Amino acid sequence: MAYTKPSPTSSPRISEFQMKEQMCSIGRRIWIKGFCAGNEGNHSYRIGENRFLCTPTGISKGDLKPDQICTVDGEGKQLAGKMKRTSEFLMHAAIYKARPDVNAVIHSHPPHATAFAIAGVELPTCIHPEAEVFLGPVKTAKYVTPGDKRLGESILPYVMDSNTILMGNHGVVCFHKDMEYAYYQLEIVDAYARILLLTKQLGSVNTLNGEEMVELVKLKERFGFGDPRMADAKKGQVACSTSDYMSRVSGDIGSKGRMSSNGGTCPVPQPSAIERAISSLAPAQYSDADVEQLVQTITDQIMATAG
Ligand SMILES: [Zn+2]
Repeated sequence: MAYTKPSPTSSPRISEFQMKEQMCSIGRRIWIKGFCAGNEGNHSYRIGENRFLCTPTGISKGDLKPDQICTVDGEGKQLAGKMKRTSEFLMHAAIYKARPDVNAVIHSHPPHATAFAIAGVELPTCIHPEAEVFLGPVKTAKYVTPGDKRLGESILPYVMDSNTILMGNHGVVCFHKDMEYAYYQLEIVDAYARILLLTKQLGSVNTLNGEEMVELVKLKERFGFGDPRMADAKKGQVACSTSDYMSRVSGDIGSKGRMSSNGGTCPVPQPSAIERAISSLAPAQYSDADVEQLVQTITDQIMATAG
């Protein structure tokens, strides 16, 4: 894995025009990756004490031009630009206000991560090292109508602990001191969500164990990344959040013994309601193998009848 220090591309030393060009280039990458359909999404850059660049409303992020980028203040008042600013800038403003270290905010609707935000399934931790290092624990904010002023309020409970937040039934917002890194987070959160969906299809999940997690969280300090679990990692323990996702995987595979949990941090899959019902009806002298055979036979019969 190639972990690198943040690049200097969005240092305040680059000109405002270069920042606008970088915003257009990020927009193109977002559109090519399929993270924003139609005119969805918006991103912004902090360029001064109370000055920000942001994308205009109603335009594809795949074809942005530097002269279409708007300049606004922290209240969202437009200071320059021929097009109207995005209606969601106030959410960006809430992040900039809460996090003086943040210089770039990107909001979009990457399909795999957004699927988790729609299903109401928290992204699990303790599974994938890239997700741990670049994202850490990712929370889901409650749904608010897109463009509404309350969008900022909905994400505020999570902005101090993470640079990536899922927005309930809506999408993702990523932020960082560096525009390029904010974009990396966007790609990584969607790639991670996609990997989780593919893993679910395969039917088993190996989790990282406690020692591996402590190592990863400590590694973040060396890269200059914060993590709310750092203090715990230094004490030698990191809490994992896997159950929400694991229950979906185990729901698919039942209790056939294919679930794997190296670190013992994920729950063992529970039998489905029908399997529990069949087990409770089985004669007392039946062994576990007999019960499993009985469950399989009855399930097969049910499936054959249903078919
Ligand atoms: Zn949106």
